[in-house]
Amino acid sequence: MESAVSLEREFDVVIGLETHVQMSTNTKMFCGCKVEFAAPPNTNVCPVCLAHPGSLPVINKQAVEFAVKAAISLNCKVHNLSIMARKNYFYPDLPKGYQISQYDKPLATDGWIKIKTENGYKKIRIHRLHIEEDAGKTIHEGSFSYVDLNRAGTPLMEIVTEPDISSAEEARQYLEKLRLIMRYIGVSDADMEKGQLRCDVNISLKPKGSDKLGTKVELKNINSFRFIVKAIEYEIERQSKLLKKGEKIVQETRLFDPNSGKTYTMRTKEEAHDYRYFPDPDLLPIVVKEEKIEEIKKSLPELPDQKVERYIKEFGLTEYDATVLASDKELALFFEESLKDFAENPKQTANWILNELLGKLNDRGIEINKSPVKPAHIAQLVKLIQDGTISGKIGKEIFDEVFETGKDPVNIVEEKGLKQISDEGQIRQIVKSVLEKHPNEVQKYKEGNTKLLGFFVGQIMKETKGKANPTLVNKILQEELG
Ligand code: ADP
Ligand code: ZN
Ligand code: MG
Repeated sequence: MESAVSLEREFDVVIGLETHVQMSTNTKMFCGCKVEFAAPPNTNVCPVCLAHPGSLPVINKQAVEFAVKAAISLNCKVHNLSIMARKNYFYPDLPKGYQISQYDKPLATDGWIKIKTENGYKKIRIHRLHIEEDAGKTIHEGSFSYVDLNRAGTPLMEIVTEPDISSAEEARQYLEKLRLIMRYIGVSDADMEKGQLRCDVNISLKPKGSDKLGTKVELKNINSFRFIVKAIEYEIERQSKLLKKGEKIVQETRLFDPNSGKTYTMRTKEEAHDYRYFPDPDLLPIVVKEEKIEEIKKSLPELPDQKVERYIKEFGLTEYDATVLASDKELALFFEESLKDFAENPKQTANWILNELLGKLNDRGIEINKSPVKPAHIAQLVKLIQDGTISGKIGKEIFDEVFETGKDPVNIVEEKGLKQISDEGQIRQIVKSVLEKHPNEVQKYKEGNTKLLGFFVGQIMKETKGKANPTLVNKILQEELG
């Protein structure tokens, strides 16, 4: 069987993503019911979200503000006026018989997200961002089906890309970046496992270099990043086999089955006119004035790309280190907190966090905000090494102890007498005694075996339990050996 990678060389892969992001508002889109994950079924409901006759929707101001925040952060043009529209279809979990969404006048259009590919940075254009409400949930158990309407009316954003994505890996990068931005600005936890981020994948193939798009297939509601990658890879293979046989791709909606790793026909493609969209007569247009947009723009925190840039410019970090630190909001905050106590060596601060701390946290499955090593500890460690109180090697020992006990590094240094020996006279004495104990090695060294320098350093460190200042040890050794 040919791999997806080799098939990608014959065809261009074209992917557009439609992502639903659940907003973390306190209440629903058009009523005062709580938005709550895993509440007992049908407890967060009211006449509005149950579609009782005569009830009227009222738009959630916070949801609109969140969507505007998201739109600005995704570099979109926010429109001063947008319209809520009814999208009509029947399903048991949709009590009104229509979903309130936006159609020809969405909240925002024309944005982009920057992702990193193997050929450098790439902008994935965002076609539109609109506001809509979620449906309820239908649960099938044995021969019974149940409807839970807790989720009905939960505020969503739908974010639609242009067909700019060219591989499964780029799709993953896009989604990770989207999730990160949503978390940075605090409009959604965007947790896929909780259904707060859901993604439909549109995918087609075309002959390499052709500028005419092929017929697309839509893959619905795949619920993990791993499955999205798998579904795309399977679909590339399926479509290219058909195309190579000279067959046509059927435009349809398909479902991914995680058990078989395959996609299956679900229904043929629906068209917009099937939904009989029209402006919702119960809702006023959404008006977002220019001043409001400016105000929200000013309230936004530093975004991931900006952080990476600043870490490189201001702190001299490598692009890689800066990107890893910024790839988690909590981690970035931890780093910045550490610098508040000691800012003289940001590179070292980053190294301790990225190498020692993250390694240990990952091993133990601990999240950064539960770390037993606090930002102040990292700051102390970097400072103790920087001012020569301890060596880097002792620093590692101290770090391990802080991790286990939560004690302050300065206290550990005091208690255990771990201060570095930086007294030249004292070091010279130790150097002399080590050399006296090893006359054969000294002889060989003088005959040209300079590798033995490492042996002497090792002996001295052993004598001093690692506390001798390594720079001084080297200098004095060279002097004593002539
Ligand atoms: P539809 O009218 O079928 O909903 P849209 O034009 O609204 O299609 O596009 C839906 C999504 O599909 C968008 O993300 C878009 O970028 C993507 N898309 C459109 N055409 C193609 C294609 N030929 N191949 C892959 N993706 C496509
Ligand atoms: Zn309600
Ligand atoms: Mg469409």
